[in-house]
Amino acid sequence: MTEPTFAEAVLGWYDLHGRKDLPWQQNMTPYRVWVSEIMLQQTQVATVIPYYERFMQALPDVQALAAAPADEVLHLWTGLGYYSRARNLHKAAKRVVDEYAGEFPLDLPLLIDLPGIGPSTAGAIASLSMGLRAPILDGNVKRVLARFHAVQGWPGEKAVHDRLWAIAESHTPHSRVNHYTQAMMDLGATLCTRSKPSCLICPLQAGCQARMLGEQTAYPQRRPRKSIPVRKCLMPLLVNPLGDVWLQRRPDSGLWGGLWCPPQLDDHRQLEALIAREGWQAAEPQVLEPLRHTFSHFHLDIQPLLIRVEHGHGVAESGQVWYNLRQPSRLGLAAPVKKLLQRVESII
Ligand code: SF4
Repeated sequence: MTEPTFAEAVLGWYDLHGRKDLPWQQNMTPYRVWVSEIMLQQTQVATVIPYYERFMQALPDVQALAAAPADEVLHLWTGLGYYSRARNLHKAAKRVVDEYAGEFPLDLPLLIDLPGIGPSTAGAIASLSMGLRAPILDGNVKRVLARFHAVQGWPGEKAVHDRLWAIAESHTPHSRVNHYTQAMMDLGATLCTRSKPSCLICPLQAGCQARMLGEQTAYPQRRPRKSIPVRKCLMPLLVNPLGDVWLQRRPDSGLWGGLWCPPQLDDHRQLEALIAREGWQAAEPQVLEPLRHTFSHFHLDIQPLLIRVEHGHGVAESGQVWYNLRQPSRLGLAAPVKKLLQRVESII
């Protein structure tokens, strides 16, 4: 009897152990798969599920997403991080509605042309929901393939990345591509995990080169280490006599683009200037415990200051809001801001 091919081994495992009850696997449409793929880019399945269900309940199809206000989309994304992904999701939905009459194009290059959809996400949408033969290469699949073939080098380098794509392409079967794609993602997430791969129960163990070398965790090679800089800021939590907190909408591009945030200031001079400009009577700032938020390229050390202000319950200008902590409006908030607002609520 001949050995099963790579795809046969993966599909055999899928039949017995693959996940078949994930929310986006029910009533599968390109829209549902697309939203799940974008959410899964930054976090694990178990964390994504409640966000996904909330998102689908509010915005069940691409038309609803395209028509939603940006604040609503960012609100539904609050807590998932990487807000540019939510903004791109929104932009892409508008294009699908305007340019393709609400139907996702059945064509990889056209999918990749939509904002926020890279080759691997396009491959997942196409193979899972459209039955097109298209490879994927997300983080989990990269790990499986890099180990199976003992691919040297960091996948962030173009040559290594191209080699992994060629391998992914060569293994993708011509039939049951939807099950194969799901199985590869599941294998990477559940068996071929980063630090403790379960090789003994892996369907690929017989041909896996990293396993034969006894060096599974050496693949894929890690990104060369580089220390990231630290930036500091003051973040005044300006509270009016009603207990509302003053937030500003950040510009669409840049850090926390489109989200609502207390002012982010360099120093106390800027704080005094802000208070003077707004004409507030401000009490002495109360220094709260600092908070570090880490972005991919720097740490942000936030010094929060709780400041009670008078005359601060007038009508906020556009791009500003007095945020009611007890009846919060549906706005997008960055994770550390959400945390700080919870702290304010527990103090005032
Ligand atoms: S044998 Fe081990 S290292 Fe190789 S693919 Fe399977 S789980 Fe990963």
